[in-house]
Amino acid sequence: MTAATTDVPVRQASLRTHNLGLVLRQVAASAEPISRADVAAATGLTKATVSTLVDELLGGGLLVEVDPPPRTGSGRPAIGLRLAAKGPAGLGVEITVDAIATCVVDLTGAVRVALRQVADQREREPGAVLADAAALAADALATARSEGVEPAGLAVAVPGLVSDGVVRLAPNLGWREVNVAAAFTDGGLPGPPSVENGASLAALGELQAIGDGGASFLYINGEADIGAGVVLNGHLHRGSRGYAGELGHVTIRPDGPRCRCGARGCLQTYASLDVILAAAGLDGAPLARLAALARAGAHPALMALDEAGTALGVAAADAVNLLDVETVVLGGGYALLAPWLIGPLEREIADRVTAHQWAPVTARASTHGESATVMGAANSIVRAIHAAPATYLRPT
Ligand SMILES: [Zn+2]
Repeated sequence: MTAATTDVPVRQASLRTHNLGLVLRQVAASAEPISRADVAAATGLTKATVSTLVDELLGGGLLVEVDPPPRTGSGRPAIGLRLAAKGPAGLGVEITVDAIATCVVDLTGAVRVALRQVADQREREPGAVLADAAALAADALATARSEGVEPAGLAVAVPGLVSDGVVRLAPNLGWREVNVAAAFTDGGLPGPPSVENGASLAALGELQAIGDGGASFLYINGEADIGAGVVLNGHLHRGSRGYAGELGHVTIRPDGPRCRCGARGCLQTYASLDVILAAAGLDGAPLARLAALARAGAHPALMALDEAGTALGVAAADAVNLLDVETVVLGGGYALLAPWLIGPLEREIADRVTAHQWAPVTARASTHGESATVMGAANSIVRAIHAAPATYLRPT
């Protein structure tokens, strides 16, 4: 590992930039307001250097000072530092087959604005969907500004394969080669927008929510399509070309049913939400109805969920054998169905993961419910600010 990727001081031209990030992240990592002296002790920087950097972050609107707690004993209590709730923030947008959502997350991780429009997007022109999404984002931006919060970047989550701001393929939306980034460059939105797979952003949101910077998990997002985000040692694994996480097209049976991707027997054909509902005799019904029937012990509902959980477990076990993650997180619609999916999923993992005896793997529902992806999108901007605060300092 090189110095550039670790939270330690470096002595290069980028010294100031790097150390600004070091100080900001130290403040962010502290549950309580932290003094300049404590930042110096924790980072290994001198007190004088920390004071200079803190002054820059205060002036740039990324940190605020708070009054010290009353302290007994000798010495003057030190002024504490905290992330600025009114500093630069992240703006997230999510497009799914049945909704458009947007939210603003401030530098402290608090959700400041959240808007959602529920409507079937499948029969619509991509341009019309994107125009609605951009308008909703502009509404969220205006509300945030009225509260003194200034989104400094925009991330858009879409359910499909994405590269260079273009959705290459989103089977359930029926999109192919749709330039999503271009739709968000007008209207005063912060830019340039980043466009990413929804499951990847949901995984980033989960990483933020659990507050464990070194966690490793497989985040399985149950929507119309199955997506996954792979987080290894606190970093989202996007793959060499950005297409990692297509768990929905991992093979369960090579001679199984034909998948929309053209192959046979993909996980998608055994465990997508549509397939589970159909197997339970609930075609097109809301997931809450399936959950209610399962809770009441209805046999078809329990059977459908057991079959889906088994298929998810078979696919997840392959991923765990390859990647050695410690947790499988069920997100999206799967979060609601987790009480019935976890049993068969963990059973398959226990049977199929060779290291399970020494390194047990647990499954659980995601921390955020249906808002996980849009919050993950906004949080990806907040993470970028934490990573390189020098770029986001307000001019003084
Ligand atoms: Zn497939």
